[in-house]
Amino acid sequence: MSTVSYGSAGAADAAVSGLDVVDLRSDTVTRPTAAMRAAMAAAPVGDDVFGDDPTVNALQARVAALLGHEDGLFMASGTQSNLCALLSHCGRGDEYLAGNLAHCYRYEGGGGAVLGGIQPQPLPQQGDGTLRLEDIEAAIKPDDEHFARTRLLCLENTWNGNVLPAGYVEAATALARRRGLATHLDGARLFNAAVASGVAPGEIARHFDSVSVCFSKGLGAPVGSMLCGSRELITRARRLRKMVGGGMRQVGVLAAAVEHALTHHVPRLADDHALAARLAQGLEGLPGLSVKPPQTNIVFVDVAGGRGEALLAHLRARGVLATGLIGLRFVTHLDVDAAGIERAIAAVREFCAHNT
Ligand SMILES: *Cc1c(COP(=O)(O)O)cnc(C)c1O
Repeated sequence: MSTVSYGSAGAADAAVSGLDVVDLRSDTVTRPTAAMRAAMAAAPVGDDVFGDDPTVNALQARVAALLGHEDGLFMASGTQSNLCALLSHCGRGDEYLAGNLAHCYRYEGGGGAVLGGIQPQPLPQQGDGTLRLEDIEAAIKPDDEHFARTRLLCLENTWNGNVLPAGYVEAATALARRRGLATHLDGARLFNAAVASGVAPGEIARHFDSVSVCFSKGLGAPVGSMLCGSRELITRARRLRKMVGGGMRQVGVLAAAVEHALTHHVPRLADDHALAARLAQGLEGLPGLSVKPPQTNIVFVDVAGGRGEALLAHLRARGVLATGLIGLRFVTHLDVDAAGIERAIAAVREFCAHNT
C-alpha cells in the first residue's frame, strides 16, 4: 500500500446525509452477512487456548490443507500473523528482507524490531510488487561479526492489487533457499491472487516456509487471519501468539465466520475484480486522471494538479468514499455492487466535467 492514507473519516459523515454509502476505502469495511451471522451463532465452541475449540481446529486443518502446509494457527489479525511469523523465523540480531513498501515492513509499527529485536532490511519494491533478484542477493550479509544474520525473505501477494508472477515467486524463493534463508509470504489477499490467476491457493503458497492470509478483507469475515507452516513452526508461533495476547478462548464464533467465507465467498472475488475493471474503464481517459488498470480489486487513480483531495470531498458529498491524496485508491468488495460502481463513475465524471 503505497500512497494511501489510512483511517480517513467518511462513512459516518456520508451516512448522515442519508445517502446510501458506496464505501470503496478498503475491502476491510465489509459487514458479516445474515448467513454468516447464523453460522457464527450456531458454531460449536471450546477454549481454544486449551486447543478445545472444534470450529477453530477444523478451520486450521482446512486452511493448512488448502495452502499445502502442515499446520495452521488462527490469528486475530494479519499484523499479528506476520509478527508471529517474523518472530518464529528470526531471533534477536537476525534480519529479514522485505520490500520498502511491504506491509510487514512499513505498515505494522515496526513490530519485528520493537518486540523481537529483528532488523528489517528494506529493498526497493518494483512497480509490480517484486524485489529484484540482484537486490535480494546483494542484501544477504556474509557471516561476519559486523552484520546482522540475514535469515528470512518476505514477499507479498497480491501487492497493491498486483499478482506476483509465478515464475518470479519460484525464482525468488529458490534463491532464498539456495542462500539458506527461510521464506514468508504475506498473503493477506492470496485468494484474490488465486482467483485472478486461475490457480489453486496452494500453488501460490507452497513455495514458502510460512504463509499468512487474511479473512477480514475481500472474503468478508469480521475478524481473522491465519498463519500456516510446518508443525514445528506453528508450535513456535503458538507460544508467540500467546505472548502478544492473541490466545483467544471461545473463538470458534469467529472461525465459523471464516469457514462460511471460505465456502461461499472465494469464487465471488472474481465479481470484485470485474467491478474494479469496470470502474477503471469508466474513469479511463477523463481529463486530469491517470488510471492504472487493476489486476484484482484495487484501482489506483492519479489526480493531476493537486486536486485529489477536492475529488475525495466531491465524492464524499455524493456518498462515495475512497482514500488517498495524490494517488487515490478505490477498493471493491462484497458490500459494493454494480450500481454503486456506476454511481462512483458518475460522480468522478461530474467532478472532471466541472474542474478542467
Ligand atoms: C491488511 C494487510 C495486512 C494486515 O492485516 P490486519 O488484519 O489489518 O492487521 C497485512 N498485509 C497486507 C498486505 C495487508 O493488506
